[in-house]
Amino acid sequence: MNMENNNMSSQQLFTLKQNCVAVVTGGSRGIGASSAIKLASMGATIALVFGGDLQGAKSTADTILSNGGKVKIYQCDVADYSLTKTTVDKILSDFLKVDILVNNAGVIKDKLMLQMNEQDWDSVVDINLKGSFNMIKHLYSQFVKNKSGRIINVTSVSGLDGNIGQANYSSSKAGLVGLTKSIAKELGSRGITCNAVAPGFVDTDMTSNLSKEIKDKAVQMIPLKRMGKREEIASCIAFLASEQAGYVTGQVLRVDGGLVL
Ligand code: NAP
Repeated sequence: MNMENNNMSSQQLFTLKQNCVAVVTGGSRGIGASSAIKLASMGATIALVFGGDLQGAKSTADTILSNGGKVKIYQCDVADYSLTKTTVDKILSDFLKVDILVNNAGVIKDKLMLQMNEQDWDSVVDINLKGSFNMIKHLYSQFVKNKSGRIINVTSVSGLDGNIGQANYSSSKAGLVGLTKSIAKELGSRGITCNAVAPGFVDTDMTSNLSKEIKDKAVQMIPLKRMGKREEIASCIAFLASEQAGYVTGQVLRVDGGLVL
């Protein structure tokens, strides 16, 4: 191998903008925690937004700090419009700018339509869909002012294909696809990209309550014959946040082991 190739192999494949600041919602656990740790390992300063799990948020922050990264945690219910405004203002006052927004916070309340009540619908749509609207809305002007930015929304294969017992969840995640494509068109001319990742079955707290029978059945439907790891979703989020993904916008990247629901 010649010197040029040696140098290339020691370089990182994907790089973030220098001195960038990344906001990651739902960073206390699961995919959000892995994404925050991954982006921090690539040099981003992390504003980690969490809902109620202070211990989880502190644990993610400790991992980032012990790896030499920079992070600050912010408790905020993403469904709350005015609280997200206060939180975004605090983040901007702490770090002066935001380069990357990962809208990852999400919940499920699975029920067949017959049992699903208004609260089941409202709470899931408010957190999963309106939560992302809130964060984008409050960061919109500063992205436009900076003429750069990466927005990554975490949707789901359920939002693309639908799923029994997930009318609320699938609708919220399908809404995120529309939000992603609209923002990509609206902000493209300002150098801002907006994409989504659509995970399949990933091993996190969200899927930990599923019975062994349901998990085995799901794995049977996945060509790669296993659930996804949270780090595998984080890597795709990191790619979409990277400089190298600068010409990718309005896309939904399925990360599902080949699953077709
Ligand atoms: P998880 O382990 O249950 O974590 C969910 C995260 O969302 C937690 O950090 C939680 O924070 C945060 N959150 C929930 N409600 C919130 C609120 N109102 N305000 C702020 N934060 C809130 O789930 P996960 O599996 O990592 O899921 C992450 C994302 O991936 C979600 O959007 C989910 O829909 C999506 N996804 C997951 C899968 C899967 O198989 N796991 C598949 C497709 C898509 P607190 O605990 O601090 O409240």
